[in-house]
Amino acid sequence: MDFIDLKSQYAALRDNINARIQKVLDHGQYILGPEVKEMEEALVAYTGAKHCISVASGTEALLICLMALDLQPGDEVITSPFTFAATAEMIVLAGGVPVFVDIQPGTANIDPTLIEAAITARTKAIMPVSLYGQVADMDAINTIAGKHGLAVIEDAAQSFGASYNGKKSCNLSTFGCTSFFPSKPLGCYGDGGAIFTSDDKLAQACREIRTHGQSQRYLHTRIGVGGRMDTLQCAVVLGKLDRFEWEVRRRLELGEAYRAKLSAAIPGLQLLEVKGDRDCVWAQYTVFVDDREAVQARLKAAGVPTAVHYPRPLHHQPAYAKYGKPEDCPHSIDAAQRVMSLPMSADLTEEQQDQVVAALAQALA
Ligand SMILES: *Cc1c(COP(=O)(O)O)cnc(C)c1O
Repeated sequence: MDFIDLKSQYAALRDNINARIQKVLDHGQYILGPEVKEMEEALVAYTGAKHCISVASGTEALLICLMALDLQPGDEVITSPFTFAATAEMIVLAGGVPVFVDIQPGTANIDPTLIEAAITARTKAIMPVSLYGQVADMDAINTIAGKHGLAVIEDAAQSFGASYNGKKSCNLSTFGCTSFFPSKPLGCYGDGGAIFTSDDKLAQACREIRTHGQSQRYLHTRIGVGGRMDTLQCAVVLGKLDRFEWEVRRRLELGEAYRAKLSAAIPGLQLLEVKGDRDCVWAQYTVFVDDREAVQARLKAAGVPTAVHYPRPLHHQPAYAKYGKPEDCPHSIDAAQRVMSLPMSADLTEEQQDQVVAALAQALA
């Protein structure tokens, strides 16, 4: 069994994806071709955000948003240390300082009750991460941001398709940034990403920054990057969108089935808490276990692949240690020691899921 089954997805969508790729090869507009606009419009319709700016990756999306906010050296951005490195990495690359605020132990998302104490005169933005596919506490975060005049950037690299109070992830704050890395809930066949915003001025800034700060051809009005998403990759996303609603539904069903089966088979196993006003698209189906390495080894021997997202909080990574004290963010430290992700994708079968649950029960027995 695959940790993430992209082969079955391609088998189901093969004719559609192949035809869309062939069309790009035939028209030859590899950069900013018609599929780029078509995908951006489709994603605007899906999320409800006013603007979608496709970019080279989820990482690039975060960088371009921060550049659009005109971050000055020393400006602070509040984020979670329990995330993929790109979140804090782009804050530093944009000239800012990441300020780490701990997570809630149940959801593994940033704890909004700890944010205000971290705000200073230099704070420019809050960057919550919608980890594992569950949106962070955006209402509480937006309220704090509004009170202090801060921008909010949702790192929605794992949560595209998730809902929160009837709205879609990526349409919940100043910016939403997602990734189309192949293993994300909506993936392409290489690198890709998108920025969502409903602010016209910021959208225009992002579009210019995406193409070397050009407001028109060869007129460079600001510093930008080469951050476009390839037409071919947009064609792949368009090909996958045909089945995406079904995939999201399937992910929600499989998440619910995992919850029911795991709690029946393994009483006391700590599962991720999903709050009642939102769902989780399970970019990763992550559980908490003690003695993780041994459990992973037993699962591997039983033919069940696992992964760890993530083994260290960022303030325990050499490159980011200077942004905190080792004892900061104790819930992030604990989660990093105990999280383990199980096989998950829309094409996971019930038989495979039963096999995973049985193997985990055995491994923990
Ligand atoms: C995947 C991911 C990113 C980066 O996206 P890429 O498209 O790989 O650059 C950023 N943040 C989080 C939380 C991610 O999971």
